[in-house]
Amino acid sequence: MAATIAAMAFTLANVEGRAALVRDGAWFDVERASAGTISSDPMLALRVPDALHALDARLSELTADGSVADVVLGPPVPRPRNSYGIGLNYRSHAAESNMELPENPLVFTKFPSCIVGPTSDIELRTETGDYEVELVVVIGTGGRDIPEADAWEHIVGVTCGQDISDRRLQFSAKPPHFDLGKSRDTYGPIGPVLVSTDQFEDPTQIDLSCTVNGEARQSDNTRNLIFTVAQLVAYLSSISTLATGDLIFTGTPEGVGAASKNYLKPGDVIVSTVQGVGTMTNRCLG
Ligand code: ZN
Repeated sequence: MAATIAAMAFTLANVEGRAALVRDGAWFDVERASAGTISSDPMLALRVPDALHALDARLSELTADGSVADVVLGPPVPRPRNSYGIGLNYRSHAAESNMELPENPLVFTKFPSCIVGPTSDIELRTETGDYEVELVVVIGTGGRDIPEADAWEHIVGVTCGQDISDRRLQFSAKPPHFDLGKSRDTYGPIGPVLVSTDQFEDPTQIDLSCTVNGEARQSDNTRNLIFTVAQLVAYLSSISTLATGDLIFTGTPEGVGAASKNYLKPGDVIVSTVQGVGTMTNRCLG
């Protein structure tokens, strides 16, 4: 009987375009650390979570390649094939937006071209730019018609995301085109790392928060999602086959700038935190 490798949590980062495991502030290039058995391409590394788990279990025997503090991290999932966004998925946010609660998930596309890293600048190019901190789930094993009960088995990990939105652009057509309004270049920072879901005591209850220039704007917990992560995976996979690396931005809680007409300005610094994942810091440019 084959020996079983105990499942271990892992933390995956993108260092100069290469997949790296992170432990205690140090990073380990996965291709080097695995002697070439795991690809350095973050999109390919995501396909072998069991190998990442096994490698993670051996990290204490290996020499780190460097300190995370000394590198600029890229998006942990740099080239998702599809990137889904969910609108109005917290009651509090639907209320502040004067919108009815959706009967089915309100789904839009964040074009993969808008995905950037956890410290990337946001090029606003508008006076109606807005922030939305969100839990982003990353598909591991893809599939079609995934039952709700199996959904978490298809998620390789979670990360933090900002669903930056240009409200004027979002509502400049009737019906509104959420996809364009949320897909300007640089409007999709994710990171700082991808954390495997087994690192959470309960991945359905994760705190998330956001500050702008140090001022608290958003704070909630994913237990308050209207459509749960499992429901979203089941729903989306009933329509479109999900693939490794696909992203789901699961929705934002109340406190967005549009509600208070407090839009983002050049020089603003957005700090977004997802419990157990870490913090992204993004500065706005004009
Ligand atoms: Zn959003």
